[in-house]
Amino acid sequence: MAFKIRIMANHGPRGRGPVPQLVYRAEAYENDERFAERKWACEHEHETVEHAFNCGEEWLARNPKID
Ligand SMILES: [Zn+2]
Repeated sequence: MAFKIRIMANHGPRGRGPVPQLVYRAEAYENDERFAERKWACEHEHETVEHAFNCGEEWLARNPKID
């Protein structure tokens, strides 16, 4: 089994404009579970999907799954 990364979008804090920005978080889950609970979620508020995905990839590199 291996972890996979998914990106969740949330509304960020107001204050930088009239429209709340979306922020993105990376989550890791096990790819053999159709409705898998997340095993990890990053604590950042990434401004782009790419940043969040890179964050998740870095976490995967630090946390190889061993079964
Ligand atoms: Zn992150």
